[in-house]
Amino acid sequence: MLIQINRSDKFREECGLMAVWNHKEAANIAYLGLYAQQHRGQEGAGVVALNRQANSKFSIHKGRGLVSDVFEEFDFNLLPGDTAIGHVRYSTAGGNVMSNVQPFFAEISVGRMALAHNGNLINADELRAELIADGSIFSSTSDTEVVIHLIARNPAHQPLVENVIGALKRVKGAYSFVMLFQDRILAVRDPAGLRPLCLGRLGDSYIVASETCAFDLLDAEYVRDIEAGELVEISGDNKITSYFPFARQKESPCIFEYVYFARPDSSVFGRNVYEIRKRLGTELARESPVKNADVVVPVPDSGTAAALGFAQETKLPLELGLIRNHYVGRTFIEPKQTIRDFGAKVKLNPNPGALKGKVIVVVDDSIVRGTTSRKLVAMLRKAGAKEIHMRISAPPTTDPCYYGIDTPKKEELIASHKSVDGIAEFIGVDSLAYLSVEGLYRAVNAKNGTMCDACFTGNYPIGTPQMQGKKQAPLF
Ligand code: AMP
Ligand code: SF4
Repeated sequence: MLIQINRSDKFREECGLMAVWNHKEAANIAYLGLYAQQHRGQEGAGVVALNRQANSKFSIHKGRGLVSDVFEEFDFNLLPGDTAIGHVRYSTAGGNVMSNVQPFFAEISVGRMALAHNGNLINADELRAELIADGSIFSSTSDTEVVIHLIARNPAHQPLVENVIGALKRVKGAYSFVMLFQDRILAVRDPAGLRPLCLGRLGDSYIVASETCAFDLLDAEYVRDIEAGELVEISGDNKITSYFPFARQKESPCIFEYVYFARPDSSVFGRNVYEIRKRLGTELARESPVKNADVVVPVPDSGTAAALGFAQETKLPLELGLIRNHYVGRTFIEPKQTIRDFGAKVKLNPNPGALKGKVIVVVDDSIVRGTTSRKLVAMLRKAGAKEIHMRISAPPTTDPCYYGIDTPKKEELIASHKSVDGIAEFIGVDSLAYLSVEGLYRAVNAKNGTMCDACFTGNYPIGTPQMQGKKQAPLF
């Protein structure tokens, strides 16, 4: 039997963006930036380069899989030019098929363009139906393609930026976009600023990336975040023009970037993720300490920074009671003789030396369906742990995300239908505690409700697809 790693497994899922302006090896730089952001999407990767010197020639290379697979032994001479955009993806909307791998390229009324998207549009279905009724032809199932059609429909004679703004004003949802046109790059964040995007500088070049870890790999300097509702145009000889075309609205950046998604060495929304993740552990330890505990054990890698914060606050030793295999692919072949908990064990294995006879505090960032935690707990007991107390460095995940993070349907989220005690019983721990919403905001050092926290509270700051006047199932 082939085991397909599913959404609740420990692969990180989302999308990561790159854009490079004015660099001799733009495509290569974009690829390296995607490499650093691999954790944001592992199902597909692609780079589109533009050779402004050679009749504005666009070249594209993309495929399914990891960046290293898609670009294995790739000759970057095939992507010539001094400007490029790139994308790594996980399919939160649309399926995992080749036609959905980004960036998308199109030749439309305004000329040739390529576009890459991080986020999820909540009115894409309505817009798509309207566009199809009006004669548009779609070649993918991705919600992102809608934006290209909207741009194409606007009059070609009006200034390009106005054209793009007109299209963006029709879409609702979470988006960071990088767009490549024959004479410029546009980078934009939705008015609520749900997904991150930042601007960097590498010598005479400008770089745009979802996370600053891409800049670090390239030795580029972080300049600033692109602001919520800001459209940045990079053109000519490094000319930067900034537009704020949308009506001001409350900002709601995604708090889950801090909890789980972003790389800990990145700065997201202007703050260092590692520091916040450690503070999540500190707050958790203050709210829900464990009496008589011997050691703190992180679930690597998602719980590592929070476990460190928990251990420092409680002055307990941190032990590597679970060892992660970093070289696991997305699928594997199970031996005919079934091994118990094979799927979980192949990625994480308990380390009896750190566990035997001990009262342990296991720290992870979240419980989604509860299946991984249940298997982990069974393995930890078998390895000799005397008592297992689980601590989660975020509030219970009660609601799905409609803004670009892959979560299962509400009914599949264990915390949507079980109490904390019920979850503790299901996963088989001696005790379970989550961080409170207040504790989460304390760790982030932000006022309650100033970020999107919908997956923990059900308060969707910009609505849901169901609220768009159309009855439809959640996208994920
Ligand atoms: P589960 O077995 O469904 O409870 O999975 C819990 C594990 O999934 C935790 O270790 C989390 O780090 C991880 N996780 C949390 N959110 C996501 C997500 N959106 N996609 C994939 N894994 C996640
Ligand atoms: Fe982030 Fe959760 Fe809001 Fe989605 S629902 S944007 S994961 S905070």
